[in-house]
Amino acid sequence: FLPHLVASMEQVEETYIMVKPDGVQRGLVGDIISRFEKKGFKLTGLKLFQCPKDLAEACCWEFIDDFNLFNIYLQWLQEHYKDLNSKPFFPKLIEYITSGPVVCMAWEGAGVVASARKLIGSTDPLQAEPGTIRGDLAVQTGRNVVHGSDSPENGKREIGLWFKEGELCQWTPAQAQWLRE
Ligand code: GDP
Ligand code: MG
Repeated sequence: FLPHLVASMEQVEETYIMVKPDGVQRGLVGDIISRFEKKGFKLTGLKLFQCPKDLAEACCWEFIDDFNLFNIYLQWLQEHYKDLNSKPFFPKLIEYITSGPVVCMAWEGAGVVASARKLIGSTDPLQAEPGTIRGDLAVQTGRNVVHGSDSPENGKREIGLWFKEGELCQWTPAQAQWLRE
């Protein structure tokens, strides 16, 4: 019985972080990535993604296709914000999220989901604490620059929606032993 072996067999916690179109347009990508990187979490997936315009317009289609970007995005629209799709601001939210390129990221580490939510700050940037991403870099809920999963289950689910398996990278950071005893 070796505790470190048992620990390494535990499910790794991961979260889906996305720089929204306003964050990309405002040149905040580097700053945002840097906060998670400096904190000590592990980046396992990273890409720039642009929603095809016709897809954004057709987001209410009932269209099932093979596993491809179209289907991933459609699932995303239906799934990603499934708790919000009856809200009055939902059409504006879809318009916002599909209005330009986004940066998709998968981050890994014990406690990463809750910690990333703290680094991001409250949904309303005016309520977000200074030092958080939204507290430092945004002024309105409808332009709050970044998304972060709200539970480990949703972290896995959202990474599954946004990344194909070959796009994720498993690696051991050189600094690993200096981050955890
Ligand atoms: P989050 O987990 O902090 O991102 O917040 P939610 O999951 O509650 O909402 C998802 C996203 O929907 C938010 O980040 C905002 O971009 C958007 N949103 C939420 N509430 C509102 C609202 O009242 N008005 C507008 N325009 N957008 C909203
Ligand atoms: Mg949320």
